[in-house]
Amino acid sequence: MIISKAPTLTDKQLAEVESVVGDFGCKIQVIYGAHRNIYAIIGDERSETMVNRLLGLEYIERVDRMESVYKLMDVRSDLANHSIKVGEITLGEKPLIIAGHCTIDPANTGAFLETAQAVKEAGAHAIRGGVWKPRTSPHSYQGSSKMVEVLMEARNRTGLPVVAEVMDSNQIDVALDAGVDVLQIGTRNALNYTFLAEIGQRTAEAGIPVLLKRGRHMAPVDEFISAAEYLAANGNPNVIFCPRGTMPKLDGFRNHPDESITPLLREKTWAPVVVDPSHSVGRAKYVPACSLAAIAYGADGLVIESHVNPISGIGDDPKQAITPCVLEKLIRDVNTVWGLR
Ligand code: PEP
Ligand code: MN
Repeated sequence: MIISKAPTLTDKQLAEVESVVGDFGCKIQVIYGAHRNIYAIIGDERSETMVNRLLGLEYIERVDRMESVYKLMDVRSDLANHSIKVGEITLGEKPLIIAGHCTIDPANTGAFLETAQAVKEAGAHAIRGGVWKPRTSPHSYQGSSKMVEVLMEARNRTGLPVVAEVMDSNQIDVALDAGVDVLQIGTRNALNYTFLAEIGQRTAEAGIPVLLKRGRHMAPVDEFISAAEYLAANGNPNVIFCPRGTMPKLDGFRNHPDESITPLLREKTWAPVVVDPSHSVGRAKYVPACSLAAIAYGADGLVIESHVNPISGIGDDPKQAITPCVLEKLIRDVNTVWGLR
């Protein structure tokens, strides 16, 4: 749909517009109004170059595309009935709870194994554990490939699937060789399109679920879904959207809580949403309320940092991990809120 600056295009301008869209196999249908005309683009209007060429004409005000730019992740796509499983849980059937350390501490791997068992007993369905960490400071602990063995040990002991973030090709190799069940793409890589494409390709055959965090600089809904489209277009549509708070932060929280994005995603995409309240609010004491809000907004699950003894942890754990005991009550409350929807 093309809106011109003036109420109508001149004949010369209309001819130019028709010639631009004609280059992309489209036509113009003029919709005559009492005071202004609107110019509908008939045909596949998804080409970004076509839209940009139209926007480059100084007499054009706006071009609104009616069709979605994300063909595969769109709620109307052929994948609309596609379902995604993590371990025993089919997303959407009951709330998926992923819990565990922010970071596996190489100096205290026993704590991670203890947490894994404890969160399982609390009712979690999958274990998270940071093997490699995207740290703001290069002087902070960056993670270690060796910790993937500890993560897999937790998997062996609990029988639950495991989730870890990967940030480069080598980490993908290590994670896939080890058999990590879910790959996380962190907020910092949410716009790294070559990396998204690589993960899509490398997880395509096995269809490994990918937990895609939302870009932290208030990534618009369309940008978030388009990032998922990169994974799907490269062969793996098993994408789980993970809102995790955005910047600028709400004073007092780590980020600006964004669990309310879920109904907006629902309108546009068929894929499930698993909210991360831990990075959103950034303090253990606020995590339960944020989690329940997320479920009330329609989330399919939660990924929560949990630690048997948060204060002894590393990375984010001392400030934002909840204990398995708090997690257990939270999961009961999550099920109650889920039952009210
Ligand atoms: C994490 O999950 O520990 C993490 C670093 O995530 P994010 O990319 O959301 O900051
Ligand atoms: Mn963390």
